[in-house]
Order: sequence, then structure tokens, then C-alpha cells
Amino acid sequence: PTSTAIAGFENTFAEALAPLTVAWQGAEVPEPTLLILNDELAESLGLSVAALRSDDGVAILSGAARPADATPVATAYSGHQFGGYAPMLGDGRALLLGELVDTAGRRFDLQLKGSGPTPFSRGGDGFAVIGPMLREYLVSEAMHALDIPTTRSLAVVATGRDVHRDGAEPGAVLARVAASHLRVGTFELAVRHPDLLRPLADYAINRHYPDLAELPESGDRNRYLVFLETVIERQAALVAQWILVGFVHGVMNTDNTTISGETIDYGPCAFIDAYDPDAVFSSIDHGGRYRLGNQPAALKWNLARFAEALLTLISPVPDDGIAAATAALEAFDDHYERHFATGLSAKVGLVGLAIDRSLLDDLLTLMHHHRLDWTGTFRALADELRGDPAPLDDALPREASAPWLARWRTALADRGVDPAQIAAEMDAVNPVYIPRNHRLDDALRAATAGDLVPFHRLLDAVTHPYEPRDEWSDLADPAPESFSAGFRTF
Ligand code: AMP
Ligand code: MG
Ligand code: MG
Repeated sequence: PTSTAIAGFENTFAEALAPLTVAWQGAEVPEPTLLILNDELAESLGLSVAALRSDDGVAILSGAARPADATPVATAYSGHQFGGYAPMLGDGRALLLGELVDTAGRRFDLQLKGSGPTPFSRGGDGFAVIGPMLREYLVSEAMHALDIPTTRSLAVVATGRDVHRDGAEPGAVLARVAASHLRVGTFELAVRHPDLLRPLADYAINRHYPDLAELPESGDRNRYLVFLETVIERQAALVAQWILVGFVHGVMNTDNTTISGETIDYGPCAFIDAYDPDAVFSSIDHGGRYRLGNQPAALKWNLARFAEALLTLISPVPDDGIAAATAALEAFDDHYERHFATGLSAKVGLVGLAIDRSLLDDLLTLMHHHRLDWTGTFRALADELRGDPAPLDDALPREASAPWLARWRTALADRGVDPAQIAAEMDAVNPVYIPRNHRLDDALRAATAGDLVPFHRLLDAVTHPYEPRDEWSDLADPAPESFSAGFRTF
């Protein structure tokens, strides 16, 4: 069946890179039920909320109906998973409905996740279940509210299909919005097909970094080298933002590293409670490759795979290409350090001063040593500045905090700004509400059993992360250590 509830689809990717796509359709859906629709996002994209909520709209969002003017595709890509090369991954349970152009003229992909098997499903069933799809919905929207580049979530539809996981679980489809689904893995596939690499790079440049299309195709500082440098910069900024909010992505494989610089693929991700750079939650990340503090190194490794794929475009002379790409990669560390140190300085009110790295490091050491709650501590520091020492004293005995606090206050004094104003600035960059693992777990369990009330409450809080409200005070509390110690994501 087809439907006109969403129209205006374009297929520039499939047209430019046809060999990287397979025309495909979603599976039948026994009993589609709209669980949640992101009205605000729909409106900002110029989509009709009423049309999306209609039976026809829900049929599209479930994958059961094809938009009348769309040619949905599954896309092909390769990737390195936990360091091992997988020559063919691709959309094993996703369907790219097509591209739309929003009211501001920005092109975005509308993709379904969990819409049934595709030619890339390998051993998988092609489906998804309610808990993980609502999890992606909530965490991606929380990230967006935290001002972190990310794919967005438009809707989750329950399918009425039993999907076999640990037992039968209720199936669901997520409708995801992304600047594009181009990823490092797309380039790792294209590099094996010499005719595709340059068109893919030019497509990505035109779509995401159109200014670079003005640069020459070859020679020193050609568009492909600057493209590499630009993606490296974007991704370095992104991973710094993750760490500043205590986000552990969990599965930073090269197929989950976007060219746009958006966060993508909310599978086994989690936010830390207690600060621990070794925090790892994913049940399959045995070596801790993607632990909190190793994310910059893991990302740099992925970007090295991206650089390798671009070598022949950067220069026809292999040694020259390698030298230029290596220099671009070496800049990653400085970009990351600048974004992280600037961001952490802002979290403690040290704005407009030279970065005091040892003061920052000593705070991190203190927080790690005492297992302080990452999110809550920065709010407690602002309270301290306002003359309320209780929140900090609840977490840490004064004799342990006093030496660092004294140095911090001395540093802050150089700003010559009223402490209450500094506290307000800190509150504007330090969230109160993040998706705490224990809260999200509870909400998803309830939702899977049919009660969406806790999910909506948590979603409301984490999409207003900087607005403390009495009614949400419990949602700011860290998980008990007993919960966190055994917590695993799947
Ligand atoms: P991810 O680790 O989520 O990025 O997924 C890695 C690969 O596994 C991608 O190619 C996915 O499309 C595929 N995949 C994940 N889950 C399933 C599933 N249930 N059925 C088919 N393919 C899947
Ligand atoms: Mg993925
Ligand atoms: Mg996934």
C-alpha cells in the first residue's frame, strides 16, 4: 500500500550512489499503534501532525505503507566493529524512506528502524522491540535538548508483532531523522569500488560542507583533505560534548561514526552517575574499548579509517596523501582538548580566563576518587557559590573538598564577576536532568507493559534539562551504587 500522509520525498543519495542502495520496502505490520509522536519536531520539519497521526500516517511510520512519492532503500556500508573489519554491514533492519527538505531549507533523511528484514540482515530478524526504540527516542531527544548534535526521533509505532529476543517481546519501529546516514563505514565500502569513492566524497561535501565544494579537486589543501580535516574537527567537538555530559555511546564502531558530526545509534549507551573514566555499560564491550574515557581514542581510530579511505583523493602520490592525512589526524588531539577543557571550564564558571588544566584535572581526580555524581556535582558547585554548601557537603566531607574549593574560588575571583551571576551561568550549562539508567530502565519496563506515564514524565524532564522543578526532584537523584555496580546495557 501507499499513502500521501507524508509527501515531498527526494532521493539524491540513491540517485548519486545507486550501487550503495537497494530499493526495498518494510514488512507488513499486524497491528500498528502510535506510541509517541514528536509533534514539535514534526512541526519544525514542516510535517503535518494531523496527517502523521492519521491511520495513513501511522502506516508510513510503521513501514507498512510506502509514501506515494518515495522510493525507499536499504543502504550498504562496511565497518570496523570493535576493531575488526566487516566488509558488508548495511541497513539490516532499517529503511531509508527518503530525504525531505525542512522549512528552513535543510535536507534530512527520514529512516525507519526495525521495519523488517533487508538484503543486509545477515543472521538478524530485521525487527526491533519497544524498549530499545523508546530508549533511542528518549536519549536522542535528551541529547538534542543538551545541545549535542544528534539524530532526532520522530515517532515510535508498536507493530503488534512478537519479536523473539530473550523471549517474545512486543515489536516496534522508530522513525528517525538525520542530517544524513553517511558514515565512515560508507566510505570504507566505497573505497573498494574505485568508481564510487569520488562521487561519494563529492556528495557528502555538497550535502554537509558545501563551502568546500569551491576548493580544487586536487593539489595542496584540496577539498578532500579539507573535508577530512572538517569531519575530524566536528567529531572531536562531538566526543568532547559527550564526555562533558557523562555519555558513554557504547558501540563506537566505524559504521556508527557519522560524516555530519551527529551522534547516531543509541543502542547500549548510558549516562554515568558516579564519575569514573573507566565506566563501561555495554554487555558486549568486554575489553572496555568504548569506556567513557577511551571515547576520544576510539573515535580517533575510526577517523584514521576514514582518512585511509580518502587517501587516493587527497593525493595520487601515496606518501603525500599519508603525510597530509596523518597531519590532519594529529590535529584531533588539540581539537578535542580545546573543546573539552573549554567546556569543563564553563561547567565550573571559569569563562574568559586562561585554561587552568591542573585545576580541572584535580577536580576530576577528586570526583573520581570520591565517586561523585557527575551531573549533580556541577549543580552543587553552583549552589556553593550561592552560599548553599549543603548539596556539596551531602556528597563529600568538607575537609576533602575545601582545598580544591579554595583554589577554585581564587581562580573565579579573577573574573571580577558576582558569584551569584557565575552560578547562574554555570546552571545554564550544567543539566539537572539526564536519562539516569535506573529511571530509564523503570520507564521502559513500564512502557513495554503498556504504561507510558513514567516514560512521558522522564522524557519531559530530560528534554528540559536545565529547568529544576519540584515535581521532578526525584529524577535528579543518582542511582544507588547497588544499582550502578551491576548495570549493563544490551
Ligand atoms: P549496530 O551495532 O546497531 O550499529 O548494528 C550493526 C549492524 O547490525 C548493522 O548493519 C545493523 O543493521 C545490523 N543489525 C542490528 N540488529 C539487527 C537485527 N535485529 N536484524 C538485522 N540486522 C541487525
Ligand atoms: Mg549502527
Ligand atoms: Mg544499533
